[in-house]
Amino acid sequence: MDSMNRPVLCIQTVCLVILLGTESTQSEGAREGFQVYSGETSHFTVHYGKAAAMDTVKPAGYEGRYVQGFQFYLKHSEEHKAILGYVDKVLPGEFTRIGEGKSKMDVLGVGSGGGEIDAHILSILQSKLPATALTADIVEPSIHLTDNFKALVEKTPSLQKIPFSWHTVTCGEYEKQVKDKRQIKRFDFIHMIQMLYYVDDYPGTIKFFHNLLKENSKLLIVHEAAGSGWDTLWKTYRKELCTKSISDYLSAGDIKVHLERLELQYDEHLIPNTLDITDCFTTGDEMGELLLDFMTEQDHFHQSLTPDLRASILDLLRNRCSTEKEGRILFDCSLSCLLVYS
Ligand code: SAH
Repeated sequence: MDSMNRPVLCIQTVCLVILLGTESTQSEGAREGFQVYSGETSHFTVHYGKAAAMDTVKPAGYEGRYVQGFQFYLKHSEEHKAILGYVDKVLPGEFTRIGEGKSKMDVLGVGSGGGEIDAHILSILQSKLPATALTADIVEPSIHLTDNFKALVEKTPSLQKIPFSWHTVTCGEYEKQVKDKRQIKRFDFIHMIQMLYYVDDYPGTIKFFHNLLKENSKLLIVHEAAGSGWDTLWKTYRKELCTKSISDYLSAGDIKVHLERLELQYDEHLIPNTLDITDCFTTGDEMGELLLDFMTEQDHFHQSLTPDLRASILDLLRNRCSTEKEGRILFDCSLSCLLVYS
């Protein structure tokens, strides 16, 4: 994709989608059987599963200031609008095919956040397949975002008709639970929208969830596109940035290589998108700082990184990850939608 040709206004929609097949598996590398959540404002900590030494615990799920940064990013990038454009274009037809002859459809959302996209996907299913019973399983470790999702369900009458199972755990922990219990619930549609960055073992995770698919079903992965500003930023500063909840950064281009190695068939759609990051270059701008924190996974970009590193990241963001239009700096946050066959 040529970012120079991208329209100036934030979004355009094309998508990359991958749908995968089925089998049973294992994996997700180094994750332990416990999680800790730290909320900046409430300072709460929740452990579950095996007790463990604090210093080996990796935070999981969005909480505290990071949720604020995420929501600010969503609003300004219009990322949801871009993804919904793809969803509206591609999923109705997919659901008709997947649902053919089925009296029930089981949907699994992995890393669903506040559930805005899940809700839309479920509403498409309800309108395309009104006579089909639906169930929704949600794997989302953030307590804050799960509460937002539950509140959304409470205020949406059509969603209240769907039985939800809430799994407030990481996908690694969910995988472990599935294997420990030997109770395997399989699904007709699974989606992982902007969450794969947080796993330690990308191919193992993809394989595990692909194996949870029933026959004639699909797995949707939405991920930052190859060659996007994210790809450039996170790969250039892998050593400095991949130290927190993202232990390795892969773009959709790398995920496609894994899909091919796993011999999984997929369709791909690209969603060009940009985010105005001009405020990030105004020292002391609070919103710019919040955005920089979210983009680099830092807790206060200007305090946590050295002046040299900050300067070179800002230079890269401006000159290699963005285009300039009418005095505004537009970061390339294009996405790939990969729809994988079962
Ligand atoms: N799909 C949502 C949220 C994307 S943000 C949307 O597009 O709006 C990434 C989400 O993944 C967050 O909600 C975060 O809490 C969740 N997450 C982080 N680590 C995770 C893990 N290991 N397993 C599952 N979800 C995780």
